[in-house]
Amino acid sequence: MNTSEIMARLKVKHANEKEYLQAVQEVLETIEDVYNQHPEFEEAKIIERLVEPDRIFTFKVTWVDDNGEIQTNTGYRVQFNSAIGPYKGGLRFHPSVNISILKFLGFEQIFKNALTTLPMGGGKGGSDFNPKGKSDAEIMRFCQAFMLELWRNIGPDTDVPAGDVGVGGREIGYLFGMYKKLAREHTGVLTGKGMTWGGSLIRPEATGFGAVYFVQHMLHLQGKDIKGQKVAISGFGNVAWGAALKATQLGAHVIAISGPDGVIHNPQGMNDEKIAYMLELRRSNNDVVAPFAEKFPDATFIPGKKAWSIKCDIAMPCAYQNELNGDDAKELIANGTWCCAEVSNMGCTPEAIAEFQKARIMFAPGKAVNAGGVATSGLEMTQNAMHISWSAEEVDRKLHEIMSNIHHSCVRYGTQPDGYINYLKGANVAGFMKVATAMLEQGVI
Ligand code: GLU
Repeated sequence: MNTSEIMARLKVKHANEKEYLQAVQEVLETIEDVYNQHPEFEEAKIIERLVEPDRIFTFKVTWVDDNGEIQTNTGYRVQFNSAIGPYKGGLRFHPSVNISILKFLGFEQIFKNALTTLPMGGGKGGSDFNPKGKSDAEIMRFCQAFMLELWRNIGPDTDVPAGDVGVGGREIGYLFGMYKKLAREHTGVLTGKGMTWGGSLIRPEATGFGAVYFVQHMLHLQGKDIKGQKVAISGFGNVAWGAALKATQLGAHVIAISGPDGVIHNPQGMNDEKIAYMLELRRSNNDVVAPFAEKFPDATFIPGKKAWSIKCDIAMPCAYQNELNGDDAKELIANGTWCCAEVSNMGCTPEAIAEFQKARIMFAPGKAVNAGGVATSGLEMTQNAMHISWSAEEVDRKLHEIMSNIHHSCVRYGTQPDGYINYLKGANVAGFMKVATAMLEQGVI
């Protein structure tokens, strides 16, 4: 079967899983040429096997809220592909979580993890639990109840979850505590742990830092520097914070951050106090960015608007999937934006990507740009397995090297005859070649 036939069948079989279908379609479209050049892949039905998760766990999570009421949520873990290493990928706690979203994230994770050069397979999990407005004690009880089911199916060499939207250091702490109690082992079964009990230095910053290192490589290749560029960032969570911090350190002006309530126009750029306040805002757990403008009068809050309405050189979506659509892309292009580095997973819709590519604007996909997060998780696994801990400088040096390698792979597989670099194609082909070859060598399993 060719890639279009495979896609057509998937659309019938999983008609309701739109995010999953979107993620698969994007990969299949970009790897088609390479797939056609490798009849051994088609013969081994590599794509048919790759698009199907190895297994999915679905479980009930019951817990008691602060009013003594019993609450029920659904927990999931999608173990997608372990061709190149144990399943690896985050947990997302958000009311939108469903099988389609976790399958899209797990599928993307396979290629992203392959790009990091580290031995990690792809997985993802989470729950429809909404952490917004919950007390610390409620978060703890939920995490403990979640792990009470999940622990049997994970392990340091089997499946290593981590954070994602709604799951940060605090949640990893509660999840790890329960795992340790049940499994009676203190191992690297989760990443993003606290610094005093097995966490890696630089992990909290890694996704945002890695993304900015990747952008630096994109710019250098075009003879440009990040210094002095105007950067618009969506979101104000952990990833947006890391990106804002590193971009500012390198002399860029972060002129927009945003939340579900609107955008902050910040023409003067960030400073230490503003960046620290981003963390405070996030900790407040209210999902609003408006108070930023109350605290810093040089910034303005524009309700209901996205970060993409602000004139910038570089756009960095750092929030959710499909947060930048075709109209947003057109607005950015009209305002003179010349680079979009997707930091969120599948942050741009296919229409937005098509607009960027049509305008020959630099565009790089999340699975390359945001891979620094999971790469540093991989470095955390290594440190745990070796029972040592590296200095921040050591981890940052390795992160730099990994981002440079990923950029190199994208350029190698994505450079078009006219010189335009199709980073999306480059990332997908590089990741696919590695995983497909591993699957082929391991036989039909
Ligand atoms: N959730 C992050 C991602 O999308 C990190 C995963 C991890 O560290 O395992 O890549």
